[in-house]
Amino acid sequence: MKIKDLQFETTTWEYYKPFHITNSISSFSTNISVSLKLDDGTEGCGEASPSFRVNGETLNALVQAKDPIFELIKGEDVRNYRRLFSRIDKFSKTAPSVKAAVQYSILDALSKEIDLPVYQILGGASDYVETDQTICIGTLEETVEEAKKLSDEGFKVIKLKVGEDLKGDIERLLAVREAVPHIKYIVDANMGYTPKEAIYFSDILYREGFPMEIYEQPVVATDFDGLRFVRNHSPYPVGADESVRTKYDALRLIREECVDYLNIKLMKTGVSDALAIVEMAETASISLMIGCMSESGVGISQSIHFAAATGAFSYCDLDAHLLKKGAVPYRFRQEGVKLIPTI
Ligand code: MN
Repeated sequence: MKIKDLQFETTTWEYYKPFHITNSISSFSTNISVSLKLDDGTEGCGEASPSFRVNGETLNALVQAKDPIFELIKGEDVRNYRRLFSRIDKFSKTAPSVKAAVQYSILDALSKEIDLPVYQILGGASDYVETDQTICIGTLEETVEEAKKLSDEGFKVIKLKVGEDLKGDIERLLAVREAVPHIKYIVDANMGYTPKEAIYFSDILYREGFPMEIYEQPVVATDFDGLRFVRNHSPYPVGADESVRTKYDALRLIREECVDYLNIKLMKTGVSDALAIVEMAETASISLMIGCMSESGVGISQSIHFAAATGAFSYCDLDAHLLKKGAVPYRFRQEGVKLIPTI
């Protein structure tokens, strides 16, 4: 079960409609498919979906990480995956999404060798994962229409993007609540508000009885004091996403009592830091959600296996493959892990 080869290939995926969040609109995503070959020909797969906005990653730099990563793991046995994870952790700062994909490809190769799904190698806490779906920033009418459609499709949790227009955001959310009353919402500002704006926003929505399960990343990533301020003055649970890229961020956010929720994304943390954050959060009684960048089927499958393995997530936001043309989930149906709308 020794590693013989590592290959990267880039693929561009187009969104059905441009994905608009605070200060960012994307119409496509260029991802890296990772293929890890063992000496007996077995292939392990993984996918990296780079984020310049969150991780500071550029595609060229990531592609160039292939040779140095291969140097660290070539000839090694995938059964010793934690040993290999530690070596790949050296790329946490410069290439976190590639770190995730290579770490996962090691588990995928091992999974095929021993005929055990990855979610069971890592613990097998659950056999299914429920996901919400996201509605990005749009007009009031578009948002209401999309929420109705998702509700009709069976989604009971919808994630709404806000953060570019405080008053307009409030109007949009109240209109959605009125049109689709029996849904719970995760609201993600993607760093769009100041701490004071964030409190104004949550005050008004709370008085109106808006059902918000998580108030995600209201302020800029580096403003831990601002996050704590919002947490202490908002009636809704506050979550960190852009603020938590590594296990060290998670430790600081927990110690400084900044948040109620941490949003783990494998593209930020890799598998290794994600495992560490799960244990840390459970120990500290901090809740977890899992999210994604712009992965296609392979990348989302990685997170589905991780979520089912650990059973640690109150909410899963694993919908990127649903938003892109031609992307289908990979390898989890036949292995008994199901992805279903949140019920
Ligand atoms: Mn987010």
